[in-house]
Amino acid sequence: MLQIVWFKRDLRAVDHEPLSRAAEHGPVLPLYIVEPELWQQPDMSGRHWAFWREALQSLRDDLARCGQPLVIRQGEAVAVLRALLREHRVAALWSHQETGNAWTYQRDRAVDELLREHGVAWHQARQHGIVRGTLDRNRWSRQWEALMTAARYPSPRLAPLQGVDPGLLPQQPAAALAADPCPGRQHGGRPDAEQALYSFLEVRGERYHLEMSSPLTASTSCSRLSAHLASGTLSMREVLQATRHRRQLWQGRPGGRTAWPKALAAFEGRLHWHCHFMQKLESEPRVEFENLHTAMNGLRDEHADPVRLSAWAQGETGWPFVDACMRALAHTGWINFRMRAMLMSVASYQLWLHWREPALHLARQFVDYEPGIHYPQAQMQSGTTGINTLRIYNPIKQSLDQDPTGRFIRTWVPELTAVDDAWIHTPWQMPAPEQQRCGMRIGRDYPAPLVDHEAAARSARQRIQLARRSGTARAESRAIHQRHGSRRRGPRPAKIPHPQTDLFDDGA
Ligand SMILES: Cc1cc2nc3c(=O)[nH]c(=O)nc-3n(C[C@H](O)[C@H](O)[C@H](O)COP(=O)(O)OP(=O)(O)OC[C@H]3O[C@@H](n4cnc5c(N)ncnc54)[C@H](O)[C@@H]3O)c2cc1C
Repeated sequence: MLQIVWFKRDLRAVDHEPLSRAAEHGPVLPLYIVEPELWQQPDMSGRHWAFWREALQSLRDDLARCGQPLVIRQGEAVAVLRALLREHRVAALWSHQETGNAWTYQRDRAVDELLREHGVAWHQARQHGIVRGTLDRNRWSRQWEALMTAARYPSPRLAPLQGVDPGLLPQQPAAALAADPCPGRQHGGRPDAEQALYSFLEVRGERYHLEMSSPLTASTSCSRLSAHLASGTLSMREVLQATRHRRQLWQGRPGGRTAWPKALAAFEGRLHWHCHFMQKLESEPRVEFENLHTAMNGLRDEHADPVRLSAWAQGETGWPFVDACMRALAHTGWINFRMRAMLMSVASYQLWLHWREPALHLARQFVDYEPGIHYPQAQMQSGTTGINTLRIYNPIKQSLDQDPTGRFIRTWVPELTAVDDAWIHTPWQMPAPEQQRCGMRIGRDYPAPLVDHEAAARSARQRIQLARRSGTARAESRAIHQRHGSRRRGPRPAKIPHPQTDLFDDGA
């Protein structure tokens, strides 16, 4: 009898528990279902598919080396599985648990129903340190540690299947999905994932904690593993174990001037955050759609002002650093954490847009889109969780701090190339003769800011603080903190000069 292994967000042949365990029980049909409806959801984009497609090709090659290449089918998961159940004698379905969006949750429920009808078991393993069902937050770190330090699964030998058409890997997963070239994006697949991991741990990462905040340095000093973790071409366990191995090597060495120990400790802290955030969506899936704290309901109009939303999404707000970050993201599919937080913060506070539309735009732009991190982060940077310190980024201060000479701005906002250093962060303040000197006019060649950022930020802070102040709002905040706040256990990330550490402590 056949064991079907259903690949979802876990596109690797190594350290893949369902694949290894299924192979112990009999011949395996490794399956990926290209689901057109999934790819038409408002949080999905052509750049995701382009990356995913490369990862699928790489998985197909790896599985072929194991003995049986990946089988690809296109259609609704239930219909595809029903057809396979008809064509083969299937003993069980194996997969990883998925903490996805509401659509994948509903699809999994439909698959579960189908399997029950046919009396076929579905074994779902955990690939992240996320607890399904009743959650004891006080034991969360311990379970994370146990899963991440357990032995990894080597890739298994697979018996080749006779008479099973492997199927084509389509160019497009759905006719309606717009192409999204994203010329500067990372390449998907296992070789690229391994290259990113080891080049980070051995070469690029030494100044991680010092250089993660500026977009000028972050693209090489950060690990760039997020898209590989989101597609599962690397397992979190592999990353954690490789990181600990490097930390041990540095511990054994005589002290010197190296920054590696601090860099690796800071990085390891981020790996915990990955699952800590995903747990929030797993425990409270409504954060994909609704404000976590109900006192924030009605504060912002759910139908975002189209002019503001479009200016923000196109990188035409008139704040050069914000626009440079948005345009860099459009080109590369990635931007560092601080700049993601600033983009979200500017949309939610200065432009006073409801977080949902901006979050969807960013989801489509991030090649590493991971719903479990994305929605809780989007809400946190919008002040709708009710438990985090309000952090309203000043786009001009960020510009001066992270891009003092305007190099990043000039790279991504060519309209401002000729603008002098004195005006590059605030070009709308340039006197007319200066605008003439550099051959451009504000309002014609580059927009003036949509609002006065200081006044808008002040007003946003007042409105949110007022909403958080009532007795019932405070009681709800305490309840939210009880459910979602982190309980610091296990290795603490190193103290790093980065204000976001406070933000992520959730006050715990
Ligand atoms: C509004 C907003 C949306 C975000 N959406 C996503 C998303 O869709 N997918 C995604 O992977 N990350 C998201 N992040 C978190 C973070 O910005 C990215 O994980 C990080 O920039 C990815 O680059 P890296 O792999 O080089 O990170 P590194 O700094 O090298 O970190 C290594 C890994 O740790 C995890 N990690 C790092 N920072 C965070 C964080 N702040 N919260 C949770 N996990 C973290 C990620 O898995 C990351 O790949 C978002 C942050 C914000 C503010």
